[in-house]
Amino acid sequence: MYSTRVNDKWSAEDDVSLIENAHLERYSTCLWIFPNGMPCNETVRGRDFSGHLRDRHGVVGTPSSQHRCCWNGCQEREFNRDCLIRHLREQHLLWRWPCPTCDQDFTRKNTMFEHRDKNCPRRMA
Ligand SMILES: [Zn+2]
Ligand SMILES: [Zn+2]
Ligand SMILES: [Zn+2]
Repeated sequence: MYSTRVNDKWSAEDDVSLIENAHLERYSTCLWIFPNGMPCNETVRGRDFSGHLRDRHGVVGTPSSQHRCCWNGCQEREFNRDCLIRHLREQHLLWRWPCPTCDQDFTRKNTMFEHRDKNCPRRMA
């Protein structure tokens, strides 16, 4: 995956966009529960989830309108649409953000950046 890296031109942001792209292209099974109690079970690509939620599960409205997460087994409270999508990626699709320089990985991209810039044991000075 990193075979094209050129040491002096490599930037961590390139790695992050590779990771993000891999998340977006990966297929996951949607376990959103329909009102009749049946799980959706459709296979959805990462980048298509927000459209899928809108079209199949009625997650529509303004970015601030509230939605409950109906994912199988989820006990979470309501979210606005953007938070719901982020929640889905973190908690249900299990997107992870590995640190480009050590082996740790993180649920949030921001946390990973903070780690990389401040706390990473292999941080380059
Ligand atoms: Zn679904
Ligand atoms: Zn949930
Ligand atoms: Zn690290």
